[in-house]
Amino acid sequence: MATIFTKIINREIPGHIVAEDDNYIAFLDINPLVMGHVLVVPKQETDYIFDLDDDVLAGLHVFSKKVAKAIEKSVKCIRIGVAVIGLEVPHVHVHLVPLNSMNDINF
Ligand code: 5GP
Repeated sequence: MATIFTKIINREIPGHIVAEDDNYIAFLDINPLVMGHVLVVPKQETDYIFDLDDDVLAGLHVFSKKVAKAIEKSVKCIRIGVAVIGLEVPHVHVHLVPLNSMNDINF
């Protein structure tokens, strides 16, 4: 069965998409920790990040960097926190969370 993120990739359910290429997509988290919380997702449906092919893993970081730079321009923050948790949705995703202090988040 397709994951909820594959359904967003395939436009079967709505998502606020902020960036996309052939292999990756980025969209706003439905339940953001802070404004501008974005999820970056490889289109290849894989549950665990270290099961990704090396080239897909490397590309995920490069794509995440591009999205993080774009977030930095649109949201006031000191830096973008980067986290891979993956306990809720079994489809690899990188959390990009604009941060100004540790008080901003409560993982
Ligand atoms: P994790 O799997 O890393 O523990 O958390 C999954 C993240 O995906 C959560 O931050 C949650 O808010 C987000 N999420 C879950 N379902 C959806 C959805 O349908 N759309 C979007 N945009 N985000 C979702």
